[in-house]
Amino acid sequence: MNPKDDGPTHPHQTNKTVAELQARIEALEAELKSAQQNSIKSHGYKVVATHTSNSVLIVDPEGVAQWVNPSFEKLSGRLAQEIIGKPTEKFLVGAETNLETIKDIFEQMRAKQSFTYEVVHYNSQNEPYQIITNGEPILCEDGSLLGYAMIETDITLLKVMEEALTNAYKSAEEKEAAKRNLLANLSHEFRTPLNGILGLGQLLLSTTLDEEQADYTQTILESADVLSGLIEKLLSMTPSSQPEPTTLERIDLRKMLSAKVCQHEQESQNKDIQFALEIAENVPAEIELPWMQTYKILNFICENAVKFTDAGQILLNVELKEENSLSFTISDSGIGIHPDALPLIFDEYYQVDESHTRAHGGIGLGLSLAKKIASNIGATISVESTFGHGCTFTLCVPISSEPVGG
Ligand code: ADP
Repeated sequence: MNPKDDGPTHPHQTNKTVAELQARIEALEAELKSAQQNSIKSHGYKVVATHTSNSVLIVDPEGVAQWVNPSFEKLSGRLAQEIIGKPTEKFLVGAETNLETIKDIFEQMRAKQSFTYEVVHYNSQNEPYQIITNGEPILCEDGSLLGYAMIETDITLLKVMEEALTNAYKSAEEKEAAKRNLLANLSHEFRTPLNGILGLGQLLLSTTLDEEQADYTQTILESADVLSGLIEKLLSMTPSSQPEPTTLERIDLRKMLSAKVCQHEQESQNKDIQFALEIAENVPAEIELPWMQTYKILNFICENAVKFTDAGQILLNVELKEENSLSFTISDSGIGIHPDALPLIFDEYYQVDESHTRAHGGIGLGLSLAKKIASNIGATISVESTFGHGCTFTLCVPISSEPVGG
């Protein structure tokens, strides 16, 4: 165009042309930017699909392979050129493949749905491997189905581990059941001969024996008694053991506790310990409480007090704390418990110091059992100690608030 041919341009017209050109340029720049972004996106998708460790297979709506990534080639042992153009069921399906699942997959594809299935595929060596396949439809803008992208994760190893774990769990459960049975039977097997030893020992002791024979018999009885206590503790901790029913008994507490103290007195005297009983005046002459369980707990605590005290005194103090709570406090002047160990002593099989335990005997079950029994009867049990100077155990037992004789 020859500028000379143009007539004089109106300034308003020039401004309009410049504005149009600027708008056009901006539109072109925006288009270019969007094209660049799309290009990055589509190249990016390809890079991701090519380099992901998941295997990727793209099929057409009939399930004919169109594209696979290197991870798919590696897992299946087949090259892309051997697969592309072939229906997937020709090279992936084998004897262990669940055909119902394959049918379901095709149904989902016809419905253009996403899906996730566990499937057994076969590699080029005809060896099965297990995958989780996640199928995503590839749709045209008009909604028609172009094909499917299957993103697959190899779970063969996971399945092997899962099976091993299931088997291990099953066998552990079977062993546990066998152990429970054995313990239930052992309980009877242990108690019967022990009762024989204890019963006949007592009888023997009531016959005419010389001093040495009486001494031996007494030792047999004491040993059988210790053994019997240990067996009771062990059996009470077995999963099959049921807590004894809580029965409230009306008892003369002073009489019962004096008998209890006498029981420990002999042993205490052998060790130069004084075992004292103090019952506060506010404790009624007769009282209704779960005596059998209370007695067992007191026994465990007193046994320990004697066991872990070499000299000094053990005091069993009883007080009515509230109208319906009786507090038993057992203080000893023994070795005490280190503050670090204090929160742990009610745990099963816990013993503060094994070397000490070897010297004193025990299996670390008494206090955990005491705690279990206490919780069954709604009682509480706690401990305080000054390390090296003894312990104080407190047991609070709920008692019937009904007036005695009422
Ligand atoms: P064990 O059969 O070993 O006595 P327990 O459960 O009765 O088991 O007690 C757990 C541990 O708590 C004991 O091994 C001991 O270390 C500690 N213990 C319990 N009572 C006392 C006590 N009166 N004095 C010092 N240590 C104690």
